[in-house]
Amino acid sequence: GTLSIAAILAETARRRPDAPALHFAGATVTYRDLWDQTRAYAGALAARGIGPGSRVAMIVPNVPDFPRVYYAALALGAVTVPIHLLFKADEIAFVLQDAEADLLVAAAPLLAEAAPAAARAGVPLTTVLAPEGLEIGGQAVPRLEAEAARAEPIERYRSVNPLDAATVLYTSGTTGTPKGAVGSHLAMIEQVHCALIDSFDVRPDDVLYGGLPFFHSFGQMAVMNIGFRRGAAIILLPKFDPDEALELLVRHRATVFTAVPTNFAQLVAAAHRSPRRPPLRYAVSGGAALPTALLEEFERVFGAPVHEGYGLTETSPTATFNNVGAPIRPGTVGTSLWGVDVAVADAETEDRIALLGPDAMGEIVVRGHNLMKGYLNRPDATAAAVQDGWFRTGDLGTVDADGVVRIVDRKKDMIIRNGYNVYPTEVEAVLARHPHVSIGAVFGVPHETHGQEVHAAVVPVEGAAVDAAEVVAYMKEKVAAFKYPRVVHVVEELPLGPSGKVIKRELVRRFAV
Ligand code: ATP
Repeated sequence: GTLSIAAILAETARRRPDAPALHFAGATVTYRDLWDQTRAYAGALAARGIGPGSRVAMIVPNVPDFPRVYYAALALGAVTVPIHLLFKADEIAFVLQDAEADLLVAAAPLLAEAAPAAARAGVPLTTVLAPEGLEIGGQAVPRLEAEAARAEPIERYRSVNPLDAATVLYTSGTTGTPKGAVGSHLAMIEQVHCALIDSFDVRPDDVLYGGLPFFHSFGQMAVMNIGFRRGAAIILLPKFDPDEALELLVRHRATVFTAVPTNFAQLVAAAHRSPRRPPLRYAVSGGAALPTALLEEFERVFGAPVHEGYGLTETSPTATFNNVGAPIRPGTVGTSLWGVDVAVADAETEDRIALLGPDAMGEIVVRGHNLMKGYLNRPDATAAAVQDGWFRTGDLGTVDADGVVRIVDRKKDMIIRNGYNVYPTEVEAVLARHPHVSIGAVFGVPHETHGQEVHAAVVPVEGAAVDAAEVVAYMKEKVAAFKYPRVVHVVEELPLGPSGKVIKRELVRRFAV
């Protein structure tokens, strides 16, 4: 058989040509226009020799050019390699070389890092968002738009073998060296359809918030591919700004807000500054643990239920979800996606999968159609991660007899203080209940006698003054002696990665003594 992820845009454009696909910078792009522009870009890429199996790297924020370049490459049967927007030249060059990219499409504002990276990796470069006449080092910068104007647009997208690679997504590096997870067309299409039928309930007249970066699996799949498959409209926001986000959600009458927990906290804070509310039907949280206090506050402020899901880049990404239409179980990440197995294995048995029974805590493992093909060029890492068809997530958690999954924490984030295990996520959920704390992060700092000491960094709620010693005392009351943060740092903001997740190792670095 053959199929293609590019069908998501092409077929919707055929069925709903006049429906709005994107709201961006005060303008609306219809599905017809978006597909026409994509066909034109595909023509330009083809003229550069891009075809089946080529690798097209792209470093583009959430602007209309992201889907144009992405679906243009996929429509030719090429593999897309979206790159983190915050990567520096060395990191970009690493990805270009590792993925053996045939072309880099860079947004002009990111050229300072992208151009030297392409030069170093010996990869041809073209740009989007570049003003005419832009030069680097005295040389005119190629513009994909101009190339498209000279080329013949493609007529149709090319179908490929379903198991062919569609994307190489480098894991965010929240915790270490990036590895390229290879996703097939089939895994991605199955993910889109299973999520739509059972979990997400996106409708053609929905308006989705599109602030999650599309280079990351969460935004790319749970917003862009799912939204376009249904013919919904997406509000693009290149960079998360809470007040602007709220303003856009209101202006475009957004019905679905999909984000990471830090964005939920920021949007609640913005709502304290503005009385206007969008007509949200529901919200989706993923990517990190959502403290129940924050879920409740968001529901109260916005009058819309919050559905939490769980997944990883390697699982395309959704593995579990609190399905829309089913009762929400706060504090859990719901049940497995249709056709996907989620179980718990002994975390200490690292060379094989030793499954544990209901309610036992261990490492969450996932098996199913949503799994990546493997890590690019990393057979050892792939063999260590995928055993007997099960993918080891590196997360600790439980699955109960009804299949309801709870995530306790990342194995690597667990703090060991005086031999006791401390799970930061659990402590963070309690911190979020403090009336003056907007959001907090708990992390372990090396300590001479305890091994590690429990620290917390907290962001005060708008206009509140937080007394660090008082927070320590509050936490001492609420959680066991070995768990409460002995040191609380009051900060204006937490260090966030490009997908909005807290980068704990940066906190450890900043506050290690
Ligand atoms: P790296 O791959 O460098 O470690 P990353 O772990 O952030 O970066 P992603 O694929 O973006 O890579 O994120 C997957 C991780 O996010 C999961 O392993 C898990 O730790 C965390 N996560 C996702 N959803 C949830 C959730 N609902 N609750 C708790 N943790 C979650």
